[in-house]
Amino acid sequence: MMLKIGSHMDLKAPDYLLAAVKKTIENGANALMVYTGAPQNTIRKDVNLFKLEEAHKLMNESEIEASSLIIHAPYIINLGNCEKEETYELAVRVLTDELQRTKKMGAKYLVLHPGSALKATHEESIARIIKGLNLAMKDNDSVTILLETMAGKGSEIGSSFEEIKAIIDGVEDKEHIGVCLDTCHIHDAGYDLNDFDNVLAEFNSLLPLDLIKVVHVNDSKNLRGAHKDRHENIGYGEIGFDNLLNIIYHPLLTNAVKILETPYVNKEIAPYKAEIEMIKNKEFKDLWAEFK
Ligand code: FE
Ligand code: FE
Ligand code: ZN
Repeated sequence: MMLKIGSHMDLKAPDYLLAAVKKTIENGANALMVYTGAPQNTIRKDVNLFKLEEAHKLMNESEIEASSLIIHAPYIINLGNCEKEETYELAVRVLTDELQRTKKMGAKYLVLHPGSALKATHEESIARIIKGLNLAMKDNDSVTILLETMAGKGSEIGSSFEEIKAIIDGVEDKEHIGVCLDTCHIHDAGYDLNDFDNVLAEFNSLLPLDLIKVVHVNDSKNLRGAHKDRHENIGYGEIGFDNLLNIIYHPLLTNAVKILETPYVNKEIAPYKAEIEMIKNKEFKDLWAEFK
């Protein structure tokens, strides 16, 4: 089975998805993840502008599977909000829309941050998240929502596999729910990636491993359990190159699409092409020592 790997890609005028796919190919990748607009807001352009047909044609020719095109929902969506009814309703509406947009884009997977409890208890917040997911998924027949494992920054929900399971247990449409495992987030949440087999065993004691459809591959700037969520370039952080390689090539995660969300080096150099090369060669190269 071939490694499915790629990175976050900008979706921008004039060529949008077509440009993102071209860049993916240039990077030696065969997968990509995009936000359908700015991640911090809900302003969205018509997907018909995105050169979808040409992009999918090129994907086809380049053996990029449609299921390796991943959409990330805007992170402003907070289904866990128990305070303002308006904000909650907006979140449900945005998610409903985003499911439609994902379908129109010819993608199968939509990554979603579960939400934040704010002042509520995690239990109350999880109940809201479940309700919101069930509402938003009512008319969805094709897109699978992937709940992302979170670092546990602030009042984030989803920093333990138990919380992810609690949400999934409440989702009615089990066919269309899965998990996106973020390496930086689980490390920051306290999972020990020096013993990834044990981490997977813990997951598997709660949920089937084949629910993990996407892995966000990021190193972390912070110590294990720091609850910070600051991504680092591959091999420059606290997780380390070998541990990340072990995850990327783990036989139990072969089918999962691996997506890099590492930071630009010195705020300007896109690291993805070089990082993908290192991963394929299974050899770390200290390319950015001067900036680290
Ligand atoms: Fe995310
Ligand atoms: Fe992530
Ligand atoms: Zn993150």
